[in-house]
Amino acid sequence: MLKIKNLHVHYGAIHALKGVNLEIQSGEIVTLIGSNGAGKTTLVRTISGLISPSEGTIEYSGKELTRQPTHRIVQLGVAQVPEGRMIFQNMTVEENLELGAYGWKDGMKEEMEKVFQLFPRLKERLKQNSGTLSGGEQQMLAIGRALMSRPTLLLLDEPSLGLAPNLVQQIIKTLIQINQQGTTIFLIEQDAFLALEIAHRAYVLETGNITLEGNAKELLKNPKIREAYLGEINP
Ligand code: ATP
Repeated sequence: MLKIKNLHVHYGAIHALKGVNLEIQSGEIVTLIGSNGAGKTTLVRTISGLISPSEGTIEYSGKELTRQPTHRIVQLGVAQVPEGRMIFQNMTVEENLELGAYGWKDGMKEEMEKVFQLFPRLKERLKQNSGTLSGGEQQMLAIGRALMSRPTLLLLDEPSLGLAPNLVQQIIKTLIQINQQGTTIFLIEQDAFLALEIAHRAYVLETGNITLEGNAKELLKNPKIREAYLGEINP
């Protein structure tokens, strides 16, 4: 479904992605783990069309995404929940959700109801200014807004960042629900344990290179992963 081949990204002299190859099949939850500065955000932003690669291709459902404008990529079914949420603080919850619909109007209310089933809190806060929502509610809104574009692939950049553990659990449960309803998920996470627990497959990114890939449950048992990302010290 998503096929990334030999992807290179440069920021001036900085070579942030060095020939990344990655594939996601329809219906999967795939996670990308890696330490700070590994290039995770760069990869998501390149898939979304916010960054142009210097080399390589990204194909989604047989269509070339590389060098397409972001709105076209959203129309093709790929939506991003960016790191830091990036909701419009001075707009209400409702207005933020409407913006996620990207131009289409028919069935907007029904689509919003689907979001409220996942996040009932948003319905209670519909007319509230988004800037006054709690961190967890803002994350729910960011996910809800992305879902309003009716994506088939949802990209999430560190949705657990800065949230209390019980809220993280709630967000994770909802992601599993979204996946079970048919949306493929690509999850970027610093919390490797959390990510590997819910993902089907995983990739490890280190300084711009994919160094490991495989079944998430197997990677969870891998001593290298346990030492580098789960804070365990091998004897
Ligand atoms: P984190 O987990 O800390 O968010 P990350 O894995 O998402 O890290 P990126 O943000 O993709 O990493 O950054 C990859 C590398 O590219 C880093 O060395 C970073 O300093 C560099 N980089 C990112 N954005 C820019 C930019 N706009 N200009 C120059 N260098 C950048």
